[in-house]
Amino acid sequence: MQIQLPNIPNEPVPISFRDGITLHIKREDKTHPKVSGNKYRKLKYNLQEAKRQGFTKLITFGGAYSNHIAATAAAGQLCNIETIGVIRGDELASKIAQNPTLQYAASCGMKFHFVSREAFRKKHTPEFKIYLENIFGKYYYVPEGGTNHWAVKGCQEIITPCDTAFNFITTAIGTGGTISGIINASFEHQKILGFPALKGYFLSEEIKKYAEKSNWKLIHQYNLGGYAKINDEFIAFLNNFYQKTAIPLDPVYTGKMIWGVIDLIDKGFFPKQSKILAIHTGGLQGIYGMNQKLEKQNKNCLIYENEIG
Ligand SMILES: *Cc1c(COP(=O)(O)O)cnc(C)c1O
Repeated sequence: MQIQLPNIPNEPVPISFRDGITLHIKREDKTHPKVSGNKYRKLKYNLQEAKRQGFTKLITFGGAYSNHIAATAAAGQLCNIETIGVIRGDELASKIAQNPTLQYAASCGMKFHFVSREAFRKKHTPEFKIYLENIFGKYYYVPEGGTNHWAVKGCQEIITPCDTAFNFITTAIGTGGTISGIINASFEHQKILGFPALKGYFLSEEIKKYAEKSNWKLIHQYNLGGYAKINDEFIAFLNNFYQKTAIPLDPVYTGKMIWGVIDLIDKGFFPKQSKILAIHTGGLQGIYGMNQKLEKQNKNCLIYENEIG
């Protein structure tokens, strides 16, 4: 089985910046109508490998709003491989109908196995693997977030020879697989800036496991205090950005990255005439869950929920 993913063209972001700086965006969220962004890139070679090794089942791990869970479910359905999602939080078993991510994954045929937070923390142990094998039989293993050697190989295909004109490439980071692929595929004159969505995680070590070059840097000050943390000002920024550009950003990853890039441009971080390419890694399904939360708190929601298909 060969999975073909398109090369995504870069679009200019229609905002004028100081110092002759330009910003383009690579809309990886448009990679596939059902499996958005970097997650399909990360799964591509894993799915091919699972098939090649004769597996009929794939197990992976994630939280209740995980883009990786949604993408794995959809990609498994496309490639005809059964998917099982081990989900953090056993209280969620009775709440599938209220959770847009789990509902979507279930509609793609994913089966769930809910575990407590303590059990979830032990998911990488050999005991847990045996435990899962006793329930589900032989399966192909994809770690939480999807990062492994094959995922990095898939993400190397995000960058193409059409991207040589840029001197900065920026991306959001979760586990570090996507930026590692981008680093490996980048050109010598380019600097890769990563914006971690999580706080206080040993990311540099993770990236060094996979990255073959050192032309990268992490920028930590735009995570708003941690994973999926937001504030009113940030939500207003996302809505304003959408109104100006018609580009929808997700509030967990790409939104914080673009927010950071624009703030850094405004503060003079980038040299004059810099050509910046931001990677839109997708994740738009996360908007539904975020809007549910905002609505409950009587806050302003993301206005483009209905525009994201
Ligand atoms: C998962 C995800 C990332 C982070 O990718 P990693 O390879 O885990 O670093 C970035 N953006 C979006 C939208 C994602 O869903």
